[in-house]
Amino acid sequence: MKVHNFNSGPSILPRTVMEQASQAILDFNGTGLSILEIGHRTTHFQDVLQEAISSVKQLMDLSDDHEVLFLHGGATTQFMQVPMNLLDEKATAAYHVNGIWGKKAATEAALFGNVTVVADSSDQQNTYIGKDFTVPASASYLHITSNNTVEGTQWHQFPETEVPLVADMSSDIFCRPADYKRFGLIYAGAQKNMGAAGVNMVVVRKDLLGKVSRKIPTIMDYQKHIDAGSLMNTPPVFAVYVSMLTLRWILQEGGLTEMERRNKAKSDLLYQTIDSLPLYRAQVVKSDRSLMNAVFFLNDPSLETAFLDLCKKENMIGVKGYRTVGGIRVSMYNALPLSSVEAICDLMKDFAIKHG
Ligand SMILES: *Cc1c(COP(=O)(O)O)cnc(C)c1O
Repeated sequence: MKVHNFNSGPSILPRTVMEQASQAILDFNGTGLSILEIGHRTTHFQDVLQEAISSVKQLMDLSDDHEVLFLHGGATTQFMQVPMNLLDEKATAAYHVNGIWGKKAATEAALFGNVTVVADSSDQQNTYIGKDFTVPASASYLHITSNNTVEGTQWHQFPETEVPLVADMSSDIFCRPADYKRFGLIYAGAQKNMGAAGVNMVVVRKDLLGKVSRKIPTIMDYQKHIDAGSLMNTPPVFAVYVSMLTLRWILQEGGLTEMERRNKAKSDLLYQTIDSLPLYRAQVVKSDRSLMNAVFFLNDPSLETAFLDLCKKENMIGVKGYRTVGGIRVSMYNALPLSSVEAICDLMKDFAIKHG
């Protein structure tokens, strides 16, 4: 059965990654053992981890100033771990809030120090990225959410800051090239664009660590994870393996330039379709539209159920908008083929003819 997977997360992964991961569950690289039963300190897993780390460095063009970690948990763990490591109790961190995830990150940070919210787009239902803001020069860092998964906005030009830039890139990691070297810290839960749930990737500039006075629990301490080479305790072996395969796939397909080309082709087609049909309305400011998650509404809300029923009938999965936002959300991560976007655009046109 042909299924179009528009899930927002966990989400679609490349078919070949799934095939290799299935094979590795039965027999990992001819070892006679499953990836689920190999030791995390064996050279087998060391190779997996090292390839994952070096692929991240290659894709992001990072030097040894940055370390790449694969840690337990989801991005929500990082909402706490970032301020625990970077924000002293009496210091202030700046948070740029464009949606529910950024708001949650700011709320968690306030448990550890002072938080100043430098922009908040909830005045316009988070349909834009605030560009007019100033960051106090004394701030420990500026935190942004590079892509707002729920609301469908994305930063297309990252802010210039004097203070270290920290980004939650959970839902657009590796979707395009950028100057990643200038970030102080980047984190991403793997399950949207780089693998299976259960692992976080953290890229951190080493010179930012060791500056807070609080005692950090060992398992939360980035520096201790660096010292242990992401092997302080048992890492989520299988999830790291799936990330490594996905990173390898990205490199083989042509890297971030090629990912961006595909993502632009898909999102251009979808937004053009929305804009050309009066039945649909996208609320996000055009210049801030996300390559990854397109959110739109039916101008006649009473048609929404019929639209969702039709998607279901055509095996289009995951298009119902987030519960607090409503409407339709089409997620188009790296692994989603253009043909799936073409299919939903055709469906939208047919539906518009029938109900226009
Ligand atoms: C999904 C998501 C999160 C939450 O991730 P978990 O892994 O469920 O903790 C945080 N930030 C962004 C931008 C997300 O898309």
